[in-house]
Amino acid sequence: METSVLVINCGSSSIKYALVPKDPARPRLSGLAERLGSSNARLKGTDSNGETFEQSLGAADHTEALEAILGRLEGRLPVAVGHRIVHGGERFTRATLIDDEVVAAIEQTATLAPLHNPANLTGLAATRRLFPDLPQVAVFDTAFHQSLPPRAYRYALPEALYRDHGIRRYGFHGTSHAYVSRRADALSGLEGGGWLTAHLGNGCSTCAVWKGQSLDTSMGLTPLEGLVMGTRSGDVDPGLHAHLSRQLGWTIERIYEVLNRGSGLLGLSGLTNDVRELEAAEAEGHPGAALAIKVFCYSVAKSLAALSCALPRLDGLVFTGGIGENSPLVREQIIALLPHFGLQLNRTVNSETIRGQEGRIDAGGRQLWVIPTDEEGQIATETRQRLEETAA
Ligand code: ADP
Repeated sequence: METSVLVINCGSSSIKYALVPKDPARPRLSGLAERLGSSNARLKGTDSNGETFEQSLGAADHTEALEAILGRLEGRLPVAVGHRIVHGGERFTRATLIDDEVVAAIEQTATLAPLHNPANLTGLAATRRLFPDLPQVAVFDTAFHQSLPPRAYRYALPEALYRDHGIRRYGFHGTSHAYVSRRADALSGLEGGGWLTAHLGNGCSTCAVWKGQSLDTSMGLTPLEGLVMGTRSGDVDPGLHAHLSRQLGWTIERIYEVLNRGSGLLGLSGLTNDVRELEAAEAEGHPGAALAIKVFCYSVAKSLAALSCALPRLDGLVFTGGIGENSPLVREQIIALLPHFGLQLNRTVNSETIRGQEGRIDAGGRQLWVIPTDEEGQIATETRQRLEETAA
């Protein structure tokens, strides 16, 4: 019997999908429909033999793209659909079975994630139309961080902004931090350890996890807070916005655009947000590339040191995400900034640990892990757990 969960991650012009079997030995089908809404939409992915495919979708919208995705599932009808939803506000503390009332509550949360939640909802509506009989579960990026205590989630702002408008820290990448910290627990044999996890991809965040619960994280009200990222600034002086507005006459839209899309590694280097290219440019003596990597690594180390305050005991660090999994250089520079944590890197193992591999890279002292994240797998697992609990 088919026991796969179809995981859907729907953006405004794209849909990522993965058909995730319960048995990890069975192949996953996965892919991406992109440029939806243009006249040039495409679907690419991998079939059960590991062969890649690419097809034109013309001017497909989200519903038509989902129909094309359905045609790529090789006749394997999923038992449920798990949706990645970016923002669950304070209402959603865990994966939730979707009904009309839940959809309405996610719509209300859209004020907190105006770019993401409406796009997630488009995918949700299309999937419900296509699979009216399948249970659908919403898995929220923010839910894992709902265990943060008030001292970590409250900003030092007037209380009414929290009470009346939900202005607080929520945190994101929860699915990834949940997955890698659970994996670290399992791999280390320290069930319920104290971990600092660093998800370093295009978006970057850190998290302090104790006994499987998030106690603090670097992202806040929006995914702009915290670390230097590919094109996002991360933390800046809160007075910056007023300064740019008063002194340079910048509009709020321009400031938003620059901080989200023109800053981070790209802004610092003046070159690219891709760490592979930055490493190559640094090796050739590009000063902007070298500075961008230095500022990035320092921001990660500083955040990890700050988040260590949340943990009763620190057992180790976990690196994940495209940069965390693939860049021995970045890992080495971050660890070199934290010698007072008793971290010792095994340089050889570090340089040999490549993408897709789990690896322990310390040479004694506290544990250092590289753990490839699996957000799709985690969404499928949480979807299954929710259905089992509902059925029980
Ligand atoms: P997303 O956050 O969009 O899921 P990823 O987690 O895949 O993205 O991370 C993408 C980033 O990972 C790229 O921008 C690049 O900087 C980095 N990256 C990927 N491969 C390598 C590599 N071999 N060496 C260094 N960095 C890499």
